[in-house]
Amino acid sequence: MKYKQPSLPYSNDALYPVISSETIEYHYGKHEKAYIDNLNKLIEGTEYEDMELEEIIQRTNGALFNNASQAWNHIFYFFSLSPDGGGEPEGKLADAIKEQFGSFEKFKEDFERACVSLFGSGWVWLSRDNNGKLVITQESNAGNPLTSGLTPLLTFDVWEHAYYIDYKNLRASYVKKMWSIVDWDIVSSRY
Ligand code: MN
Repeated sequence: MKYKQPSLPYSNDALYPVISSETIEYHYGKHEKAYIDNLNKLIEGTEYEDMELEEIIQRTNGALFNNASQAWNHIFYFFSLSPDGGGEPEGKLADAIKEQFGSFEKFKEDFERACVSLFGSGWVWLSRDNNGKLVITQESNAGNPLTSGLTPLLTFDVWEHAYYIDYKNLRASYVKKMWSIVDWDIVSSRY
């Protein structure tokens, strides 16, 4: 098996009360594990076996794309979070957010609106384009901004499995709480 699920850099109960240990057990322990297991099965003995995961995401569609992208997206999501997160970004990313959105508060409003208005399952992303410009995008299902030539910086998973145990149908409440566990040091390092 080429891909192994990395251990999270925090314990399952570390993000409580924003994300419960039960959600992490299901979301990372079962959903993400299944995407990685499926990805390993789908690439075995094919031309994709020796390809970088990012390249698989950019070159495929259907089941292979869905599992490859979901495997990547979840690691990106969970490794953007920290029990010591929250606050605001500093440095160049903070400057870019202020310049483009007016303020950090306005950026959060725009991002939350994108999360709440995404119909069905998907992801909302903050990315950087080739000119350093920031862009918020909605992606349905397994979508990933790498396929549009963007550099992902931050994502919120808005599939129901990300929040239903803790927030039931209240996606907006989940999104609002998420800011307190975003690791801005990691997000800034991607900018
Ligand atoms: Mn998910």
